[in-house]
Amino acid sequence: MPIFEYKCEKCGRVEEFLVLPGEKEPLTCRYCGGRLVKLPPQHVGFVFKGSGFYVNDYKKKEEKAKAREEASARGKSGTGGDKKKS
Ligand SMILES: [Zn+2]
Repeated sequence: MPIFEYKCEKCGRVEEFLVLPGEKEPLTCRYCGGRLVKLPPQHVGFVFKGSGFYVNDYKKKEEKAKAREEASARGKSGTGGDKKKS
């Protein structure tokens, strides 16, 4: 599907447009009339980079929470006591 993303230089809105062959690309923002800039495809788009990292981050957080849960379930002995910060 030839769906492209365009970002408005003026108001920063990102819009998805289905651009069919032979059809004109949208060049102006329908909200403010600013210039639209075509964004790279999703898999390399910097806009969606964050979401990928977020998934990884979320997984890590989940693991961390799990580890913490296990640690607290084991009892308070050894949780943080072995690491002294001066
Ligand atoms: Zn705009």
